[in-house]
Amino acid sequence: MAFSLAQDSRQALAETGRAPLRVGLIGKGIQLSRTPAMHEAEGRAQGLDLHYDLIDPDAMTGPQPTLAQMLDAAQDAGFAGVNVTFPYKKAVIALLDDISAPARVVGAVNTVVFADGKRRGHNTDYWGFAESLRRGLVGANMDSVLLLGAGGAGGAVAHALVSLGVKQLMITDRDPAAAASLAAEVGGTAVTDLAAAAKAADGIVNATPMGMAKLPGTAIDTALLEPRHWVADIVYFPLETELLRAARTRGCRILNGSGMAVFQAVRAFSLFTGLTPDTNRMRATFEAFSQVHDTQKGG
Ligand code: NAD
Repeated sequence: MAFSLAQDSRQALAETGRAPLRVGLIGKGIQLSRTPAMHEAEGRAQGLDLHYDLIDPDAMTGPQPTLAQMLDAAQDAGFAGVNVTFPYKKAVIALLDDISAPARVVGAVNTVVFADGKRRGHNTDYWGFAESLRRGLVGANMDSVLLLGAGGAGGAVAHALVSLGVKQLMITDRDPAAAASLAAEVGGTAVTDLAAAAKAADGIVNATPMGMAKLPGTAIDTALLEPRHWVADIVYFPLETELLRAARTRGCRILNGSGMAVFQAVRAFSLFTGLTPDTNRMRATFEAFSQVHDTQKGG
């Protein structure tokens, strides 16, 4: 039997006279995501009966549904849309009718909106990182940036950095082919000599999973940090990674990963609901979580 999601929105409307707004997140290992709480609290504050479901094959018993089945099930159940995370951000594109220009540029989709029987994909990670940097590092010199990590999130971050006016984007990854391919895509340079790259960089961004509670350490020798550098990390469990702690101690301007996580949700909320969310309220919900160990991938 095909995978299905319980409680059709139309049925709830018939029973309660009030149409719930259903959205969700499709991804693996997402049980600790803070995104449901941000959307549900903001929905409540705006008078919506908003339900945010986690659709996580890792948490299901029995045969694993395919991405196509999970997407079909959400659309059939009357969802307004879904967020999509690891490992589906690229694979989902083939299942959509249309994607926004930024999602096309990044080559990944983390938000799908269902409307008029159609599926449109967006990339709110891209905007989320750019907005976080614009607000959190006002006036920072962005001529030259060293990006650590060319994976899924690194792609959105690289494109966002270029959109913010970075002229020289140096990219490194444990997998040299990933760095080379992203560098070619964004007009950057793949680098392996991190001492030389740090010398040339105004800012350093970590988009590797290094620094997560389950992956302690840093993707760059922190002795290479200088007070003139700004340092951003997209890891947010913990909020202060080993890299950010070293950078702060050295006197660098720092930016943690909470802004990207909050702003991707801010943009997704407005895409799902057509309403303008209160950014500070969504950030407050995010920050209300106690620091727990990160066992998930983004989202
Ligand atoms: P991913 O697995 O797709 O990519 C990670 C990349 O980092 C890979 O290419 C890998 O080869 C590289 N890498 C790992 N260790 C390295 C090292 N020591 N040096 C150089 N390169 C290294 O993962 P992803 O989806 O891109 O996510 C990366 C991290 O970003 C996640 O751990 C998550 O915490 C964080 N994230 C945060 C947000 C947010 O909203 N703040 C959103 C998405 C992801």
